[in-house]
Amino acid sequence: MKLAVVGAGIAGRLLSWRLSKLGYDVELFDKQKKGEQQACSFAAAGILSPLAELEMAELDIYTLGNRSMTLYPRWLSELSTPVFFQQKGSLVTAHGSDKVELEHFYRVVKRKVGTKDSEQALIEKISVSEKEDDLSHLGEGLFLPTEGQIDPIELMDSLFNDLNKAKNVKIHNGVTINHIANHKVETQDGDKAFDWVFDCRGLGAQSDLPLRAVRGELIWLKAPDVEIKHLTRLIHPRYKIYVVPRPDNVYLVGATEIESEDYSPVSVRSSLELLSAAYSVHRGFGEARIIKNVVNCRPALPNNLPLIKTENGLTQINGLYRHGILLGPAVVEKAIEAFVQETKQDVRKVQYAN
Ligand SMILES: Cc1cc2nc3c(=O)[nH]c(=O)nc-3n(C[C@H](O)[C@H](O)[C@H](O)COP(=O)(O)OP(=O)(O)OC[C@H]3O[C@@H](n4cnc5c(N)ncnc54)[C@H](O)[C@@H]3O)c2cc1C
Repeated sequence: MKLAVVGAGIAGRLLSWRLSKLGYDVELFDKQKKGEQQACSFAAAGILSPLAELEMAELDIYTLGNRSMTLYPRWLSELSTPVFFQQKGSLVTAHGSDKVELEHFYRVVKRKVGTKDSEQALIEKISVSEKEDDLSHLGEGLFLPTEGQIDPIELMDSLFNDLNKAKNVKIHNGVTINHIANHKVETQDGDKAFDWVFDCRGLGAQSDLPLRAVRGELIWLKAPDVEIKHLTRLIHPRYKIYVVPRPDNVYLVGATEIESEDYSPVSVRSSLELLSAAYSVHRGFGEARIIKNVVNCRPALPNNLPLIKTENGLTQINGLYRHGILLGPAVVEKAIEAFVQETKQDVRKVQYAN
């Protein structure tokens, strides 16, 4: 079968890679030229937090996120270049005056999970110093041992390398698809027919789906005076932040969430909020150096849930919103299963491959 995938963000790359491993001929189209990193997926912090996200999200995000946490280690081991991934757990904490918000977070997450999947739904009340010596001033906190993080840029690059090497994949960089329909894509050189088309254009699919852009800003710091090992969230009534530790004392502090399709540089207000909050977590951030500012817009649907729509000759994958890296593997797995069923192929082939 000859398949087209439009959009080489996390959805399109993971999908093309899994489809190629299943033996399909895949053509992957993206409007970005080779080496450009403007897709939203390059901006992500790489937090893999199915449980903590439940404070704001539906149970579906938790269920899909947990599935991805099972798939990630397996899939990453099949890539030819290594990708930074760790599952050391995450911390959630708050300053003294905001501890009531922390209790609220705990109750909301516990209530949403209910008795479902109780083994995975681990959320422990701890003293923060049990996990992070330098953060003892924060007093009580929560520890979520199953959570983790990944480096999305390494993941995107690694997927691209393997796709580039695969004999059954053809990558079309710098090609804008003007229109997508069942079984065909329209390029500036005319229509191209396929047995099936997968639309993974993110915000590029606004003409076909009720998508909105949610701007996110993220600041990368190099902080030699800071030794935080765990992904740490600070609960705050106005601005919630996370600090994501990377190797070599690099920390990602983010992310804002602003209802706007605005790709302009990080604002002063956002910088002040993110950096003040980071400084309140660890004074060592005062001497940190800002090494990168990141801005991008998340593709969100009205219900803030992912969409996998499969019908005659066309699958739409979109609405990954603030969870695209977390949900990527689970969403791709579901999309391939639906496609295989719809085209009446042998489902066992896919189940085995996953
Ligand atoms: C600051 C920030 C931090 C984030 N942190 C996290 C995080 O920690 N964890 C997490 O899980 N998620 C996070 N996210 C969310 C995550 O980045 C998104 O959910 C995800 O990247 C969406 O992936 P996608 O493949 O759907 O879209 P995209 O990555 O936007 O990819 C879409 C691709 O389609 C291409 N395209 C569009 N239109 C066309 C066209 N007409 N023709 C050809 N190609 C086209 C684009 O060039 C692009 O390459 C974050 C987002 C932001 C902004």
